[in-house]
Amino acid sequence: MKDYYIGGIERLEKQAQLVVNKAFQEAFLQDYSKEVLESCNENRLKDFFRTIQNLVAIETSPLTIDQVKQILLASETGGVALQAFTNYTCKRCNTVNTWHNSAVPMLCDKCREEAALKIINSKVLLQLNINVTNRKEEII
Ligand SMILES: [Zn+2]
Repeated sequence: MKDYYIGGIERLEKQAQLVVNKAFQEAFLQDYSKEVLESCNENRLKDFFRTIQNLVAIETSPLTIDQVKQILLASETGGVALQAFTNYTCKRCNTVNTWHNSAVPMLCDKCREEAALKIINSKVLLQLNINVTNRKEEII
């Protein structure tokens, strides 16, 4: 598995060099090098790989996490809202939260952020962006 993570890290480093090099310096307190990766244990490599996967996905996504969160929120809330602070239970983590009106969302902010990150990480948005770009070129 170490080779799998090192290969993945190298692929991401080619894709988004600045992002990966910055994350590498923060994590290992030195410049990016394959030798440092090879000297790491598997768990540290796995954690670093997951961290930079998220960072590169965010960097290359056509939408920000906040924009995806707003889209999710729009799909969660609806109906007639009475202007009164209302408690609700997050459908994912079961924490009790407060919303500013009675049209409460399904998720708490933390779970919505995790969902937004999963959507950005799924590459669906990136593919959508590529398709839109291709379409633009066809029109021109
Ligand atoms: Zn939650």
